[in-house]
Amino acid sequence: MTKRTYWAEHAWLEGDVEPGVALDIADGRVTAVHKATPVPPPGAEVLPGLTMPGLANSHSHAFHRALRGTVQAGSGTFWTWRETMYATAGRLTPDTYHALARAVYAEMALAGITTVGEFHYVHHAPGGTPYADPNAMGEALLAAAAEAGIRITLLDTAYLSSGFGQPPTTPQLRFSDGDADAWAERCSVLEERDHARIGAAIHSVRAVPAQQLATVARWARERRAPLHVHLSEQTAENDACREIHGCTPAQLLALHGVLGPRTTGVHNTHLTAEDISLIGGSGTGTCMCPTTERDLADGIGPAAALQNEGSPLCLGSDSHAVIDLLEEARAMELNERLRTRTRGHWTAAALLRAASADGHAALGWDGIGTIEAGARADFVTLALDSVRTAGPPPGLGAETAVFAATAADVRHTVVAGRHVVRDGAHTLVPDVPAALARAVEALRA
Ligand SMILES: [Zn+2]
Repeated sequence: MTKRTYWAEHAWLEGDVEPGVALDIADGRVTAVHKATPVPPPGAEVLPGLTMPGLANSHSHAFHRALRGTVQAGSGTFWTWRETMYATAGRLTPDTYHALARAVYAEMALAGITTVGEFHYVHHAPGGTPYADPNAMGEALLAAAAEAGIRITLLDTAYLSSGFGQPPTTPQLRFSDGDADAWAERCSVLEERDHARIGAAIHSVRAVPAQQLATVARWARERRAPLHVHLSEQTAENDACREIHGCTPAQLLALHGVLGPRTTGVHNTHLTAEDISLIGGSGTGTCMCPTTERDLADGIGPAAALQNEGSPLCLGSDSHAVIDLLEEARAMELNERLRTRTRGHWTAAALLRAASADGHAALGWDGIGTIEAGARADFVTLALDSVRTAGPPPGLGAETAVFAATAADVRHTVVAGRHVVRDGAHTLVPDVPAALARAVEALRA
């Protein structure tokens, strides 16, 4: 049994900042929390700053990181951006994908992210031929997360058609298993492990024919696995869905049994009032990706209305234009301020909950998101003495974390009781910027 003690200068406990907290850890879990411990116990690992539960990046496409900085020139829309993204997808192999994902997940660890939800759809070789191991690409991602020291929920994604009733286009052939039964057969072979859960995803109502939605939903239900789906990110998707099916994407998902408490709609941007009631009333979650949504000119989703109707909120960095969950959290609130011209839609505590506890729940992990006895020992420590965070009293640490800090303020990341980031340096991937540069270069045209 591996035992150790951490001492947090300040810790986020039960919605408050507590000074001087010792945390006993054994076998990856917190066994005891000792408040009012003003000095570190002998042998304790000291965590100066504010220690909070580890962050969950609930929506990731690791390979989009290769596009950062290269897709900002000129005009265009989501659909023109997608052409560039497909060109990058076309160059991925299990080896290059592994190298890139390892570096991207290491970047996430440096940003305090302890679990990633990887929405994974590049399954096969170009042209659609399966690899010798049909899950070679998914396995590359699972290995990458292990090597970067973070947890992963591999949301294996069904992507079968290009649009309603249309076969996959050439770049999309890599994504398709042919039909939902073949998708289910392939991903049933994937095995969970200590750091990894296997979940399901429906790429979108465009990409999975309506009569096959229930197959994916059943696969997830039988395994009690999380099920994610891109939902109404674009008005064009809504228009096409209405034209073919006579209803909105949310209504179509409801009709085929996709919505429910283990399901998360990603983006949920362009919704009707009835959609919001359907999503909230069914307990379906919402994953907002504000930095991507603004980067791709998607629009602002009705996050507050969704939550009011019963939809738990989580956050993702999606296209990785930015990897910073604190920025995602404050952007959700600040978007709502711009839209309504009023302040204070979420407290810092509520935003941290979306960035941690509710994100982990949406990815099928229990026991992460609070620091208490019995919880998994996943946490992140932010500096309270940087140029961004110095000044406010430590009691306002949550507000400082959400509204002033950035990923650059992460000093320590601990996953399952193991130090993955120490003093701002990754302990497993020695030079993360160099690893990113090499991996991105290998995918350049
Ligand atoms: Zn996405």
